Amino acid sequence: GAVPASNRVQNRAVEIHQYDDVVAAEFEAGFVNTPDTDPDLPANRDWGREILDRVPSSRIGEDLVEQNKVRSGEELEGRIGSALTAAESWGALSGAERARVLDRIGVKLANHRAEMLEVMAVECGKTLDQGDPEVSEAIDFAHYYAQLAREIDGVQGAEYVPSKLIAVIPPWNFPTAIPTGGVVAALAAGSSVAIKPARQAARTGSVMVQAVWEALDEAGIGRDLVQLIHVDDRDLGQQLISHPAVDRLILTGGYETAELFRSFRTDLPLLAETSGKNAVIVTPSADLDLAAKDVAYSAFGHAGQKCSAGSLVILVGSVAQSRRFHDQLVDAVQSLTVDYPTNPEAQMGPIIEPAAGKLLRGLTELGEGERWVLEPKQLDDSGKLWSPGLRSGVKPGSEYHLTEYFGPILGVMTADTLEEAIEYVNATDFGLTSGLHSLDPDEMAYWVDRVDAGNLYINRGITGAIVQRQPFGGWKKSAVGAGTKAGGPNYLVGLGDWRDQPLEA
Ligand code: GLU
Repeated sequence: GAVPASNRVQNRAVEIHQYDDVVAAEFEAGFVNTPDTDPDLPANRDWGREILDRVPSSRIGEDLVEQNKVRSGEELEGRIGSALTAAESWGALSGAERARVLDRIGVKLANHRAEMLEVMAVECGKTLDQGDPEVSEAIDFAHYYAQLAREIDGVQGAEYVPSKLIAVIPPWNFPTAIPTGGVVAALAAGSSVAIKPARQAARTGSVMVQAVWEALDEAGIGRDLVQLIHVDDRDLGQQLISHPAVDRLILTGGYETAELFRSFRTDLPLLAETSGKNAVIVTPSADLDLAAKDVAYSAFGHAGQKCSAGSLVILVGSVAQSRRFHDQLVDAVQSLTVDYPTNPEAQMGPIIEPAAGKLLRGLTELGEGERWVLEPKQLDDSGKLWSPGLRSGVKPGSEYHLTEYFGPILGVMTADTLEEAIEYVNATDFGLTSGLHSLDPDEMAYWVDRVDAGNLYINRGITGAIVQRQPFGGWKKSAVGAGTKAGGPNYLVGLGDWRDQPLEA
């Protein structure tokens, strides 16, 4: 079949410069995941270095944040009014017509990959190897939800009524992919959008929205459809979330935040992806080399600041008894290069803000019976650059076992059997991602049947869900509201209303 144009661009020195009918036809032919930039190609390494060279003095996105500040309730009302007006004609388009615009947004994002990587390094300390897949994911969301929009046209026996306005409140940890996912889902569903990027990632969210606006301009839709809203004042943020014109809220953040937002307006349908406390089990049948590498990456990629991160590894039976895996894991963790993203060798960057509160405790205090295998060290005065922490002796039911820290700490637990290990996995309040390293099909089946989590990964790292292939979302306190999975076939279903008759199969 046809390969979308963005998939041809392995060498980022070559980019797509126009969106034309040929490109459009390729996207309509079907969804294909966008590849990440191949860092082994010399041209791409040069391209990456140019981006990093710009980082120290970069002002990217600053003006956009200033220009899009909302300073009063009146201004907020004006913005909401503009969105609602734009929603009239947008919501009247067919899914296929909206899909064309979404594909154009995907192409725009592909053309702005370098800017996205720059602003994420500047503002969020993202290394290129972490940021690059995130841009691919953002592009995927646009094209995948375009496909879902086309499918809405084909539904028989029910009338689809789009929401008028969807609010999107994304986090700072995936500051490109998650905001994009919310915006393009809302657009695909036929709604206008009010997006308020996270304070810590305001510039990144703005540069992303700018790319979306460019696509909307080119398509003749106009920018009012996507309102970029920055607020200095918390009350204004709350006013947005609880505004009666908002039909749905797409949120990614901590579980407590979701509960708080729900308390603002209890009748507001919420689609929230929330916290995780995720574990990887390693059994004696595992490929231990692979397991050590995957566990280290899952725990310390983006300094562990992912809902999906693995912050527990549970060693079963002889894996716990022998030194072999232990030494491999220590090696894998110790060999990580920790530095700011301007160092092209950096594998783990800084945390978003100086460690404080719960995270600082997690980095500096041990529970009963625990010891540091690798004690986290502050590498400079910023409070943000820490070496990775590895603690052993984590006891079932302990604070470390049950708490999400959202930082570069990994705890080791041991279990006699797989059954016992699964008990520890399921003992937390959360159920987002979960991992198993085992080469035994019976163990795999046993584990799949019993683990309470939304995303299960076998012999793979537990972060980095791929659009369409691994729809992302959790169980228990890892989701609040509708519970549909991002990047999966049902994501749009709950974003509009279906009238007259229930959906037929
Ligand atoms: N979707 C991301 C992943 O699979 C995690 C999103 C999050 O941390 O909020 O790694």
